[in-house]
Amino acid sequence: MIAVLKHNATVEQRDHLINWLQSQGLEVHISEGEEYTVLGLVGDTSRIDGELLESLSIVQSVRRVSEPYKKVNRKFQPSDSVIEIGGGVKIGGGNFCMIAGPCSVETHDQIIEVAEGVKAGGADVLRGGAFKPRTSPYDFQGLKAEGLRLLSEAKKVTGLPIVTEIMNIEHLPLFEDVDIIQVGARNVQNFELLKELGMTRKPILLKRGIAGTIKELLMSAEYVMAGGNEQVILCERGIRTYETSTRNTLDLSAVPVLQELTHLPVVVDPSHATGHSGLVPPMALAAAAAGADGIMVEVHNDPIHALCDGAQSLTPAQFAAMAEKVRKIREVIKE
Ligand code: PEP
Ligand code: MN
Repeated sequence: MIAVLKHNATVEQRDHLINWLQSQGLEVHISEGEEYTVLGLVGDTSRIDGELLESLSIVQSVRRVSEPYKKVNRKFQPSDSVIEIGGGVKIGGGNFCMIAGPCSVETHDQIIEVAEGVKAGGADVLRGGAFKPRTSPYDFQGLKAEGLRLLSEAKKVTGLPIVTEIMNIEHLPLFEDVDIIQVGARNVQNFELLKELGMTRKPILLKRGIAGTIKELLMSAEYVMAGGNEQVILCERGIRTYETSTRNTLDLSAVPVLQELTHLPVVVDPSHATGHSGLVPPMALAAAAAGADGIMVEVHNDPIHALCDGAQSLTPAQFAAMAEKVRKIREVIKE
């Protein structure tokens, strides 16, 4: 249930109402907007008389929310969330963010060269996997702690904030210098991991599950937010369908659908969605045209010799050309 308070409600009146709602066994989440204060009531709201609540002088309106997600719900927070990533970079609420970098951190020279390349091309954030979720246990598993150390070095050299994936909460102490912690498609329903990340205060990038519905993605975000961490970014990265021409099927309609349902920023990863570098630029442009809050693409200085996902990796020059066009699309759709 959601109660929107009137403009002129005093702090005393508001606190009085909140105390009463809490005494009814409800958790009250307060969202202060520019225009209104919204109270999100979580718990057994069946004992609350909505009409009575609405009749109070400080209450503007009351709505029962049927969706199981509350904190991520746009009905609870009508304005877009803007997430501050570090280094002056923001995402959401009109701030578009370009995340680029290799699938995996491989060597010192590789990550520095790619970081400098994507920065020159206009990237806002550097990506790079250190703990890699690979389908085969015999494939390259990432440089792990050493990979995180090299990412930090690339951050120092370029000033770009960094995003990298966590697979095990025991590794969290290694992520101190990481600006955005990614939860990959395979772990997005690892609820224990999500609960732990909910206790941190770092932005979390949640990728849609391989066969995950939009609602399931929102419920995963709710796990993080329920723990008190409000900085969640959602990522559409393609879902598994019967189609085999592309690695996954990019569900671009997820962008406007998510933006209607939630205030959280939504980015699109056309690299894992398509699996082919030639398909990445058109789908990145389409994502920008669809109103995404950002894109995340894989870039490698030597894609043919990449240890992971070379086929879908752009070169820094290809990234720069694509980024230029993405900026033009952003101009076109600006209101
Ligand atoms: C990644 O972004 O490095 C990755 C493994 O992606 P996904 O979890 O979407 O497969
Ligand atoms: Mn990859």
